[in-house]
Amino acid sequence: MAEYQSVIGLEVHAELKTASKMYCSCENKFGAPPNTLVCPVCMGYPGALPRLNKKAVELAVKAGIAMNCTIQQNSFQDRKNYFYPDLPKSYQISQSEKPLCVRGYLDILVNGEHKRIRINRIHIEEDAGKLIHDAEKGITLADYNRCGVPLIEIVTEPDISSSEEAHAFLETVRSTLKALDISDCKMQEGSVRCDVNVSLKEKGSEILGTRCEMKNINSFSGAVRGIEYEIKRQLELLRSGEHIQQETRRWDDSRGVSTVMRTKENAMDYRFFPEPDLGLISLPDDLVSQIKGSMPELPGEKLFRYTEKLGLKEQEAKIIAFDKDKAELFDHCLSLERASAKTLCSLIVGEITKYLNDTGDQISDTKLTSLALAELAGDTEQGRLSSSSAKKVLSELITSGGNVKEITERLGLAQISDPEHIQKIVAEIIAQQPKSVQEFRSGKTNALNHLIGLCMKASKGRANPAMVREIAEKLIKMEE
Ligand SMILES: [Zn+2]
Repeated sequence: MAEYQSVIGLEVHAELKTASKMYCSCENKFGAPPNTLVCPVCMGYPGALPRLNKKAVELAVKAGIAMNCTIQQNSFQDRKNYFYPDLPKSYQISQSEKPLCVRGYLDILVNGEHKRIRINRIHIEEDAGKLIHDAEKGITLADYNRCGVPLIEIVTEPDISSSEEAHAFLETVRSTLKALDISDCKMQEGSVRCDVNVSLKEKGSEILGTRCEMKNINSFSGAVRGIEYEIKRQLELLRSGEHIQQETRRWDDSRGVSTVMRTKENAMDYRFFPEPDLGLISLPDDLVSQIKGSMPELPGEKLFRYTEKLGLKEQEAKIIAFDKDKAELFDHCLSLERASAKTLCSLIVGEITKYLNDTGDQISDTKLTSLALAELAGDTEQGRLSSSSAKKVLSELITSGGNVKEITERLGLAQISDPEHIQKIVAEIIAQQPKSVQEFRSGKTNALNHLIGLCMKASKGRANPAMVREIAEKLIKMEE
């Protein structure tokens, strides 16, 4: 039986973080009452003329540079014509022939493997309105607030070969757009969405299979599920000797199935032509070099630095590198040189992330400072605090702020590293547990762990565990 390889391409649409819309001065805002952010331009009234938003172009160029594209000094806009009730103009202004950014790439990391995903193009376009279907009343309502909201569309080459790689790519794109303030990428507000192309080819073959497209998937996990479903569907068809039809499918994430939207026979013909109401987009000479010069270290670059130079685990490094605030906290703590990357990482990925997830807070909502976190991590490494005590101090730092030393003393959490003090605790436990002592002597190593556990309990978790072990072994041997 033939072996197949999946070939996946993505088109990511992200709303740009501008104050106003792409071609008019209406506010670019989510959640306003329906049809209150509209004007003759974004409603497509006859005679209304569009004017291009400069900031939107700058943000798109920024995205292009971050994704290693060639930025075209001159590009133009086209009309994409189609009729649909969410599009009052009956055409969308987009870029077809000569987009703003071309031929880029993004590097991703999946299970320790680097992979370069080529980007075909990044172009600007305007968003359409939103239709709200009311099944009960049998009506559809149209909200045009989103009409004319600036978007970029990032189109990859079909370089992705699994749902896992697709997820890694989407995460890298999202964190990059967020880190650069290009888009807020709020999934729940639909400000980033993606279309997915999937086909299967025989392993080792250069010939691509027939591809199917799934449109408007509004979550990354939905994209992963959609891709997996589509691979399975196509595989079953091919294995049973059938052909794949080229078609556009709709992914229904709640039911976990995709259904046919349209086939090749009734594919849309958009009749692209240059937008006559807008001129050439001609970038100022120094714009690209200016943006390049101010580009910070990007999330993808951070990820490679964390995993390769600092030796962090991939999953943990992703949690920090792909989150602007966590990465800032981590890098600042690291620069203070009080603790190792691994200790800082485990505190941020563990307790801090758990707190943020539970409360929905941002790091900036908490009282935690990078200096306090660095000190806490240092105290843990140097044995002044046990890991359970560190958790208590950290929770105090997050909710009330303050100084690590002061909190440690106030809560009576300082680790006991005084040999005489520890020896006293261990001697008492040994006296109380002759059976375990005997078991250890007869070769049961587990019995020692039991004794150490009791010592830790007796010290309320404050005794230095390594010293407890060392002293317990010594005392038991002495008594032999
Ligand atoms: Zn408007």
